[in-house]
Amino acid sequence: ASGAHVPVLVVGTGYGGCVAALRLTVAGVDVHMAEMGMAWDTPGPDGKIFANTTRPDYRSFWLRTRTRQPLSNFLGFPLDKDVPRHTGILDAEDFAGITVYQGRGVGGGSLVNGGMAVTPRRDLFPAVLPTVDPAEMYGTYYPRATAGLGVTPVDPAWWEAADCYQYARVGRRHAERSGFPFVFVPNVYDWDYMKREAAGGVPRSALEGEVIYGNNHGKKTLPKTYLARAAATGRLAVSPLHEVTAVTPAPRGGYTVTLERLDTTGVTVETKTVTADRVFFAAGSVGTSKLLTRLKATGALPALNDQIGKGWGDNGNVMCGRANHMWDPTGKLQSAMPTAGIDNWDAGGAFAEVAPLPTGIETYASFYLSITKNPHRAEFRWNPATRNVELTWDRAWKQASIDAARTIFDRINAKEGTIYRTDLFGGNRIWGDHLTYHPLGGAVLGRATDNHGRLHGYDGLYVIDGALIPGNTTVNPFVTITALAERNIEHIVANDL
Ligand code: FAD
Repeated sequence: ASGAHVPVLVVGTGYGGCVAALRLTVAGVDVHMAEMGMAWDTPGPDGKIFANTTRPDYRSFWLRTRTRQPLSNFLGFPLDKDVPRHTGILDAEDFAGITVYQGRGVGGGSLVNGGMAVTPRRDLFPAVLPTVDPAEMYGTYYPRATAGLGVTPVDPAWWEAADCYQYARVGRRHAERSGFPFVFVPNVYDWDYMKREAAGGVPRSALEGEVIYGNNHGKKTLPKTYLARAAATGRLAVSPLHEVTAVTPAPRGGYTVTLERLDTTGVTVETKTVTADRVFFAAGSVGTSKLLTRLKATGALPALNDQIGKGWGDNGNVMCGRANHMWDPTGKLQSAMPTAGIDNWDAGGAFAEVAPLPTGIETYASFYLSITKNPHRAEFRWNPATRNVELTWDRAWKQASIDAARTIFDRINAKEGTIYRTDLFGGNRIWGDHLTYHPLGGAVLGRATDNHGRLHGYDGLYVIDGALIPGNTTVNPFVTITALAERNIEHIVANDL
């Protein structure tokens, strides 16, 4: 309620926020979480909570009247369509040079992501988080994070024979014939559930192509893991459809937090203020960076330092498809949960996730999301004229990622006698270089904050999400975001409470 006082307010319910909520509630602290997205606990008119990947509807996009699908075209045909404006699950947030995809709802990105739960190679970690001790991460916090998230490997014997992973086996054959290491990666999907989907005993989710607009079954999202455990303490309150718009020091100590309650068309129906002794910014790399950049520029938090908004990267994301020969079908049935990648980081600066293209028909296409060593970093900046936060990313910077990805796929194409697909992104383009799924940075650890996420300039303000990581994790990021949050919150609980 407006006027209330809470010991801890957490802004956002993604990985960082849920780790903070669990560890603080277990330590005996009452935690209130504000989440701008919906709770995603109520079925729609079709009896399902989430829409299918191939049939986006009002549930699929955050406040858009037309879908903005990551793969905008297929066989040359545009796929986007009009939808009613709604507080849907996937935000395709447009900046000048890049569209940043993010999950919206209680559970953040865990609601929409592929569940690929990858720990970076230890030898690469010093470049990912230079101020963090690898021994404590690999000895304690990565294991704690993967256990908390429910990360498990796929059963290799089942995988080898499963129709739904034919696309991945084709990906392996092509990688290995060109001499690239093919690595299995674990996932948070419930593999027993997927086996039953394949056997025909339960409603399909991953095998129905569900992923970017939510999974109705099978995926261990944050509301089923970290958040459920936090709620079980009896000390957690979560307010969905509440957007935090301001945080400023309160006259008698702590912080005054302004929240706007939204209706499902995105209109503010109520503005509330609460006071909080401590505030954890966990709104995701973009959400946290935008908020802090605006609060610093508009005088709500003027003592934040000049590192706010800086060090943002796209994890080098770039997508592409390859056209296989007719004797290399990738399968009509494709599990939406990826299980493997091609590691060419050392020689070419690229790690390519062998991704599904779950269209329900044979496409003869191999599809990949590459994570690359892109050196460019952008900055969030306040524009006083438009009263908006802008991002200085330049679309041309993706060329470095394309070059890195080509170290894998040019060689595979030469070996296999195949070509790139040009029908997936519109305009005969080969590369999906207009987007990222992996925003990182903007309030970097050890620069905007101390080495545990305490914001410089204010006692009791913390960053605990992907904004802390300076732009790249060499692999998919959520395990690293979770593990870093585990490390930081342990230190904060021991020293600050
Ligand atoms: P988020 O998970 O983004 O959570 C932030 C939350 O804060 C959101 O719920 C948001 O709605 C809320 N919020 C924002 N601003 C406010 C505000 N002002 N007030 C209140 N609430 C606010 N990563 C992997 O490791 N493996 C994968 O397979 C993978 N696949 C992906 C697929 C897709 C389609 C996408 C979009 C992402 C994928 N990712 C994957 C990335 C991963 O999901 C993100 O890196 C991760 O969710 C980021 O965690 P976070 O805690 O930083 O923030």
